[in-house]
Amino acid sequence: MPTDDIPDLDAFLDGVRQRNSGEEEFVQAVGEVAADVLPFIADHAQYRQAQILRRMTEPDRVISFRVCWEDDNGDIQVERGWRVQNNNAIGPYKGGLRFSGNVTQSVLKFLAFEQTFKNALTGLPMGGGKGGSNFDPKSRSAAEIMRFCQSFMTELYRHIGPDVDVPAGDIGVGSREIGYLFGQYKRISGRWEGALTGKALAYGGSRLRTEATGFGVVHFLREMLENAGEELEGKTAIVSGSGNVALHAARKLIACGVKVLTLSDSDGFVHDPDGIDEEKLDWVMTLKLDRRGRISEYADEFGGAEYHAGKAPWHVACDLALPCATQNELDEDGARALLDNGVMAVVEGANMPSTRAASDRFRKAGILFGPAKAANAGGVAVSGLEITQNAQRMFWERDKLDDMLTALMKDIHDKCRADGEGEDGRVDYVRGANIAGFRKVADAMLDFGVM
Ligand code: NDP
Repeated sequence: MPTDDIPDLDAFLDGVRQRNSGEEEFVQAVGEVAADVLPFIADHAQYRQAQILRRMTEPDRVISFRVCWEDDNGDIQVERGWRVQNNNAIGPYKGGLRFSGNVTQSVLKFLAFEQTFKNALTGLPMGGGKGGSNFDPKSRSAAEIMRFCQSFMTELYRHIGPDVDVPAGDIGVGSREIGYLFGQYKRISGRWEGALTGKALAYGGSRLRTEATGFGVVHFLREMLENAGEELEGKTAIVSGSGNVALHAARKLIACGVKVLTLSDSDGFVHDPDGIDEEKLDWVMTLKLDRRGRISEYADEFGGAEYHAGKAPWHVACDLALPCATQNELDEDGARALLDNGVMAVVEGANMPSTRAASDRFRKAGILFGPAKAANAGGVAVSGLEITQNAQRMFWERDKLDDMLTALMKDIHDKCRADGEGEDGRVDYVRGANIAGFRKVADAMLDFGVM
């Protein structure tokens, strides 16, 4: 007899924990989704009987491989590479590659799981995947990074392709690394095809892709504020990180009349009470993207700004907070400080930047809280549009893409609202994103039967 008992959350997570021993980030990400989806499937027998949630928590496959390369001293280095192909029910796997010393299989499985829901929310035909390596490009020369990327792609190429799996960048993988990876894919496969996104314009990239995640986060934030009868103009914001997402989110905030007070990196944060304006941000862009410098240098350059080594910015009073660096960077203490200082909205630019305890606090406090899988989906959405442009051998103009991104983020906001609005009119965006993303993938899986 088939069973359609609904396990409680603890029992469900015990099973996930046992099957994925030691993979704490993955268990955390599943727990956050299951907390909303289990009550939902209690009223939807079709998903329950087909064990859809249980099936979604098992990646389609996890590919792990050796990456061997020679450093500038002629020494042989050995790293590990992965591609997690989580779910391709609604389209080819899609999700970035992360190169960082703290990459583990658990981190990539959590990211691929989250990506599945995020990609579903965009409305575009993209499944969820993620990959990367524990290789840390930070202390490496350009020649070493090139050799590593070529070695990495020499294995990865057999698992990807425009109709199979389309990786992109993420932490540690920017346009330089995408160039090396795409060049090697093209060389080995003998084909020019859109097997990667985040490419430079010269060889098939999309306009606006670089800016899309950060800009999209601010579009989502504006929608949340407007839905609550508020507006961006005149607010103060703290932003963490100083990478692709953080800097473009800051750029859009400034353009919308918001005073941006902070930026950070993994060594500490800078607080500029006068606000980081366009000119200062241009300087940071050159510092981080061209010179690969540290954010501490900002305080030496601009009088009035203070650098706080080894700290995150959450204790700085603000109306809006945008964690845009990395997972679990915003803990319960940070959440408490933000709430005590009267924060009005928190919107996640990074993937899972809030710990479970922090996100529970925001939801309980009833502030506007935009979860990553909805708020930072603008990047992958424009990646989806890059795939379409490559398939058509077309380049679309920036204005057209900007309009599409704005409309996509509004649509994602509205989907979250439709599934997350309570009787009092308040929107729980976390619940809305989890349920809307789940339903889209689940309905496709139901149509395929048992597999
Ligand atoms: P980048 O590599 O461009 O920037 C990452 C930033 O985060 C850097 O400033 C880095 O500082 C900082 N950082 C990294 N680790 C830590 C840490 N442990 N504590 C504090 N700061 C840290 O990456 P992206 O901007 O592309 O990505 C940032 C986040 O956004 C990630 O979670 C990513 O998955 C997510 N994201 C990115 C998308 C994209 O389009 N790029 C799309 C959707 C999500 P340092 O220089 O010191 O390492």
